[in-house]
Amino acid sequence: MSIAETGNPGSINFTSTRNACKLCAPLGASLALRGIEGCIPLIHGSQGCSTYIRRYAISHFREPLDIGSSNFTESAAIFGGRENLFTALDNLTRSYKPQAIGITSTCLAETIGEDLPMYLKQYEAERSRGGRNNACLEPVIFYASTPSYRGTHMDGFHEAVYAALSALAGEGAGPEKGAPPRINLISGLVSAEDIRELHRILRSFTGSPDSRGPCPYTLFPDYSETLDGPSWETYQKLPQGGTRLDDIRGMGRAAGTLYLGRPSGADAGRWLLDCRGVPLVNAELPIGIENCDSFFASLSELWGREIPETWAKERGRLVDAYIDGHKYVNGKRAVIYGEEDFAAALASFLDEIGVVPVIAATGAENSGFRARLGQAPRNTKEKMEIMEDADFAGMLEKAKFLKPDFVMGHSKGLYLARNLGVPLVRCGFPIHDRIGGQRILHLGYRGTLNLFDLICNALMEETQARHENGYTYL
Ligand code: SF4
Repeated sequence: MSIAETGNPGSINFTSTRNACKLCAPLGASLALRGIEGCIPLIHGSQGCSTYIRRYAISHFREPLDIGSSNFTESAAIFGGRENLFTALDNLTRSYKPQAIGITSTCLAETIGEDLPMYLKQYEAERSRGGRNNACLEPVIFYASTPSYRGTHMDGFHEAVYAALSALAGEGAGPEKGAPPRINLISGLVSAEDIRELHRILRSFTGSPDSRGPCPYTLFPDYSETLDGPSWETYQKLPQGGTRLDDIRGMGRAAGTLYLGRPSGADAGRWLLDCRGVPLVNAELPIGIENCDSFFASLSELWGREIPETWAKERGRLVDAYIDGHKYVNGKRAVIYGEEDFAAALASFLDEIGVVPVIAATGAENSGFRARLGQAPRNTKEKMEIMEDADFAGMLEKAKFLKPDFVMGHSKGLYLARNLGVPLVRCGFPIHDRIGGQRILHLGYRGTLNLFDLICNALMEETQARHENGYTYL
């Protein structure tokens, strides 16, 4: 029985997912893998999975995206996909000449129990005997286990980061003698523009135009160029950019890791701490003044350097904007949704500007999202509905009773916003019905300012639209 029939928000009880608020795990893994220089993702499973993933990511990034597939047929689904995998590795090596191949598994491959670690050992053995016809080209090959029935695209993303790091990061024994301290920043699933902003922030600390300056850092994964680069004269199978393999190898010797987000499964930051002794700080995505302050403080502490003066000015501009826009946002009500890290940061930001997040939802399950939001300081006494394993139908049924003024998240929330008759403030991933999703800036003081402007302007536009003659002053 649905809430619409009972009128009681507590009575929802469904066993099916209706318009899920999550995407497929190999999709998230593929995005992370495109953040490694010279790396091509290889999806072990049927052709349809890679076609869907390419189609979905291209509509957001508006860039070509080559992804290999081991192309399961009926016989591979029954007898196993070992030969398909070997052929795919051979073909990718020959035609792309990659530095690395990141294998990400599909629901089908994991369901039939494909033993990828064993296959890779066998392939390496054949390769070292010269039996694979690729002897002079030896890309690094690693594997991320990413069935979608076990997690979301966010889990796939973290899993791929973990797989690449644990395959590449060499022995760590602290920073090399005499070498300047290096830090690692693991960026989470953020926009290409966000990654460029993180580079700007890191470089402002180093005073260098490059990540290899006097205060070196590794930002990983970095798809700011590979998924949002300039146009080409001729097609590039593997676009330039991405975190260099040598830099990933050096992450085990860093002075510290700052991990944006809190992975609930595979955790590369935890691996660096446990296996390489690299100190770890987990931080919320820097959205909102409180999260940004904490992010800058962590960077400053890890590096032992003062926060550059320029960020005090950016912070001041953001505070000024909060004051200017306060009358438009204060007391408004919002539904927010998306990846658990992103939705948690949005909830904190909205609370900070006086908006009541009446629903905070994520498609992830058992990610610690509820506990994380339950502990967050709140300016409002109104109860926030925290939804895990959420779908858009469930959100709509709850939201009808909670009367939000706007909805905030990716473009899959369009029908939710339409049914509620409120504006959708587009942000996060994916954005399929507007141009420039990859260029939305969310992070840092400047990103927060951008989100704040988007919210104020959406509410002002809505007010204008509701009045016959509109207002030219609001
Ligand atoms: S079958 Fe699984 S891996 Fe393939 S597209 Fe669907 S959810 Fe993704």
